[in-house]
Amino acid sequence: MDHILAEFVDVCKKLYERKYVVGSGGNVSIKVGNLVFITPTGHILGFMEKEKICIVDMDGDILKGKPTSELNMHLKIYKNRKDVNAIVHTHCMYCTAFSNIDKEIKLITPEGQLFIRKIDYIDYYPCGSMELAEAVSGSEESAIVLKNHGLVTVGETIFEAYLKTEVVEELAQMNYIIHNMIK
Ligand SMILES: [Zn+2]
Repeated sequence: MDHILAEFVDVCKKLYERKYVVGSGGNVSIKVGNLVFITPTGHILGFMEKEKICIVDMDGDILKGKPTSELNMHLKIYKNRKDVNAIVHTHCMYCTAFSNIDKEIKLITPEGQLFIRKIDYIDYYPCGSMELAEAVSGSEESAIVLKNHGLVTVGETIFEAYLKTEVVEELAQMNYIIHNMIK
């Protein structure tokens, strides 16, 4: 268990170092059995420590800490998708910019084609709302762009969910570069 939580902390720090989140934005979780380990509300991911990780069970009962306001989104995804054990949610710059202009991010890199089958796009719903949780958890894809908000990636492991964020954000950046080159 210890190594899983160490990986959780590493991923939080990496998301912050790579500027996929700023301030107290973004949240991360993993599911182990009936328990969900999730980032606390209002906390900067770059300063995450094992002791600060919140614990919630699959019924939504909070066992430790004060979880992110997107707790419902994480729980609903785990309830709907048995293939998912980890979730990364960020407001990464290029994906979020694309989400604001309703433009599709094309899978133009080998990593994109290899890791991301398809990027899903959902309509705007307020942060932390049940509507947002319903919409995101209804997707069958592993990379979901939330309109005017950010990105959710999911995986069997936290490392896989993280890698998908990295790949999709780079895809979005490359789409932006190409779009500007051919203007
Ligand atoms: Zn968010």
